Amino acid sequence: MSRLPAILCLGAFLVAAQVQAQPPVERLAQGVRFRTISYQEPGRVEHAEFRRFHAFLRASYPRVFDSLSVETVNDYSLLLHWPGSDSRLAPILFTAHIDVVPIEPGTEADWPHPPFAGVIADGRIHGRGTLDDKQGVLGLLEAAESLLAEGYAPRRGIVLAFGHDEEIGGDAGAAALAARMRERGWQFHWMVDEGGMIVTDNPLLPGRPVAMINVAEKGYVTLTLVATGEGGHSSRPPRISTIGRLAAALEKIESNPFPPELPGPVAAMLTGLAPHLEQPQRFIFDNLWLTGSLVAGQMSQDRLTNSFVRTTTALTMFNAGVKENVVPQRAEAKVNFRLLPGTTPEQVVQRITRLVDDPQVQVIASEWDNIPPVADHEAEGFAVIAAAATAVYPDVVVVPSLLTATTDTRHYIDLAQNQYRFHGMRISASQASSVHGTGEYIDIDSYLGSIEVARHMLREGSR
Ligand SMILES: [Zn+2]
Repeated sequence: MSRLPAILCLGAFLVAAQVQAQPPVERLAQGVRFRTISYQEPGRVEHAEFRRFHAFLRASYPRVFDSLSVETVNDYSLLLHWPGSDSRLAPILFTAHIDVVPIEPGTEADWPHPPFAGVIADGRIHGRGTLDDKQGVLGLLEAAESLLAEGYAPRRGIVLAFGHDEEIGGDAGAAALAARMRERGWQFHWMVDEGGMIVTDNPLLPGRPVAMINVAEKGYVTLTLVATGEGGHSSRPPRISTIGRLAAALEKIESNPFPPELPGPVAAMLTGLAPHLEQPQRFIFDNLWLTGSLVAGQMSQDRLTNSFVRTTTALTMFNAGVKENVVPQRAEAKVNFRLLPGTTPEQVVQRITRLVDDPQVQVIASEWDNIPPVADHEAEGFAVIAAAATAVYPDVVVVPSLLTATTDTRHYIDLAQNQYRFHGMRISASQASSVHGTGEYIDIDSYLGSIEVARHMLREGSR
């Protein structure tokens, strides 16, 4: 072996050692070790872990917890208020969540490092929550702590709100935080939640990082379909069973998807990308008035981009029968829809009822949450977030976009007219699939960058 690789190895080791010594990186690794898991079954939640996590935050960010007014809401959520010097100015709100999703049983061994070990290796911090969303919580606290250390005093007030059950709907966390804010009479200038990021390999613009500041998110509606009819012994079956009836209804639903369309935030994203593209793509995205339906049709062909241009239909549950020789009198299925901006839950119920068109199949809508309105990408909040991203990553292309998942944002609809979703981390599309999946990690550089972005947002937003 030549000496050169040995020297390179030594260099890499020194760089690694230096990076690992960074306190924010160590703290995120530590934060991952608390099993603040949201389970669908409330009895399984380890509440002591949430309390220990709070204690860890208090110990790690002493300036924040000493100088800001801190309130624990519903035992496990946190509300921090950093008053501004000018009380006439509406404050700004930054949200993130403390809880994480569980590890799918049987997949633990597929993780390169145990999901709750908080291992720092290969320039990365590994573990559940490193992307979703402990980097959000700790990143904001790192930013506030460092600004306090510099003596920064905001003119406009800042509120940080960390819910503890986002992954199961946010009813105990974000909803309670929002209720407390209403009691205080707070109305925010703008707010920013999780749900947007810098994507390094956007298929529409390869080679350039794209900051996707999400100005909207899709709506969420689940319908239950219930078929009822004659049951009995399988030796004398009815002509059409409840299972057959329900299956036919589901087939109609699946083979008649919602038509593709180009909602405002997606059109704004494509228009924002246009100047950076080659012809003819540039012309196509610059003239969506002419090409819009063609573009929507094309995007609907790909599973990844389809969710940007369609209210999606997913058959997710089917239950019927208890014994192989008994025809059930009842069969039940659930269908989950994710709604594009502009499509209402009522329209979904109407369309599906019309499609099914069978008096023996009931279409039942469960309660749905309000859907946040589309935020203005020309308003001040967007400009602050965009400036923060470009200050830290000068090569980034900033666009408004649509989040195809849901967040806690909907609990704060009445509290802020403009709601954005963005944390300043850089990730690849493939890495995004590890959110809620296996092998979640964040690059150390990406985490440090997101703290810088948070610092800019807090400071420039509150000047
Ligand atoms: Zn999340």
